Amino acid sequence: MNLWKTYCNKILKNYDDFGAVENGLPYWRDYLFILTVIYILPLSLIALIPGLIVSFHFGFYTIAFFDSFAAISLILIAFSKSISQLTKKILFFIVVYGLAFVLLSTLGSFGPGLVYLLAGSIFMIIIFPSKYSWLSVIINIIFCTFYGLFIEYNLVSIHQSDINNTISWFAITSNLIFLNAVFSILIPKLFDGMQISLDKQRELDNKLQIKQKDLENSLSLVKSKNQELEQFAYIASHDLQEPLRMITSYLALLNKKYNSLFDEKAKQYIFFASDGAQRMRNIISDLLEYSRISRTEYIPEKLKLEEVVKEVISLQKRLISETEAEIKYYNLPEIYVYKTPLIQILQNLINNAIKYRKEETKPVIYINANENEEEWLISVKDNGIGIDKNSFNKIFVIFHRLHSRDKFDGTGIGLAITKKIVENLGGKIWVESEEGKGSTFYFTLKKQ
Ligand code: ADP
Repeated sequence: MNLWKTYCNKILKNYDDFGAVENGLPYWRDYLFILTVIYILPLSLIALIPGLIVSFHFGFYTIAFFDSFAAISLILIAFSKSISQLTKKILFFIVVYGLAFVLLSTLGSFGPGLVYLLAGSIFMIIIFPSKYSWLSVIINIIFCTFYGLFIEYNLVSIHQSDINNTISWFAITSNLIFLNAVFSILIPKLFDGMQISLDKQRELDNKLQIKQKDLENSLSLVKSKNQELEQFAYIASHDLQEPLRMITSYLALLNKKYNSLFDEKAKQYIFFASDGAQRMRNIISDLLEYSRISRTEYIPEKLKLEEVVKEVISLQKRLISETEAEIKYYNLPEIYVYKTPLIQILQNLINNAIKYRKEETKPVIYINANENEEEWLISVKDNGIGIDKNSFNKIFVIFHRLHSRDKFDGTGIGLAITKKIVENLGGKIWVESEEGKGSTFYFTLKKQ
């Protein structure tokens, strides 16, 4: 095997002038020629050695001479680096046609000579560009005409078994020319078709590459805009905290010191102002949390999902006991994840599952985990009010809420934060729900 590899590499090294694979058909034509040389050289020994022995034995010195010429030419074609590929191809066809001539003149037209002529012409159609496909027909016509003349003027000895006159020769070889012409029309058509397909494929590849580049550019633009936006949200919400703190504390002072001077209306105004300030504080702190997500780096750790759920439950203890919510989970696996983001995700989902409960119905929440080869699929299912299916995507958009504040309190950022955390960890989040029956939120976490 190693010997065969060394032999192939040696020949391939002498053909460094053949085109690149992107050139399409010219490359494959050259490659086929090189492969032919690689295989023909050892295989020709099967014909050459017995040929040489028999020729010397029976005194067919022309065959012996030509066999040697063919062997030397093939070795040159295979191993010479200084001869150009075109010359090698021409030399190859000289060998094929020479062989056909010698076989015809020694073994007659019923010998393998005509087969060599046909095989040589088909090979020529394949190896040379389509526009030269008629060349083989012309060469065969010239060859057969001259050979006919040789027969006519007794320049070649006619074998016993042949129908030995010129007319029979032309009758036989007209079939060869006919087949040759058919191939010279059909084979280039096939090759041209292949070339068109290759060109189209290349064109598509180029277009795809351009689109991919555009996409990459757009992605990096979106990424940088996103970072700018996060930076803006961070700075704005951070800087808003201070004046807001002043408003809240002065409102509290006003209320405390001058409460006796206020009538009911003034007290109501101060209450609205404090309530507004409180809401603004919630929004600002949620915004700050949102803008912090991609800035924070975590270290993954091996955790029992059950322990994480228990931690979330203890964080939400008050809400759970106030609403008599029940949280059920079985057989939760051990996973390798970032703990803090996972707690944030579960806390947001469980909090919503309780918040959006049905009146007069105790909230029951199921937490489940499944896995495939690459990721964990975790679900949080509730028996709450459910979500209209037209809003499945909208609820993950920042500030998007489905209810007024007097029905359910909130800022509309919770699910946007959850989505951002999940996506930051390389996962996805979605919801399945039926109005009046409850919702199931699913999210995936990459195992690595
Ligand atoms: P918030 O709860 O502050 O309004 P979220 O981003 O957490 O903001 O939720 C967005 C909207 O999605 C909510 O206003 C609510 O209408 C809907 N929603 C979220 N979770 C649930 C749930 N478990 N059941 C029903 N509706 C929900």
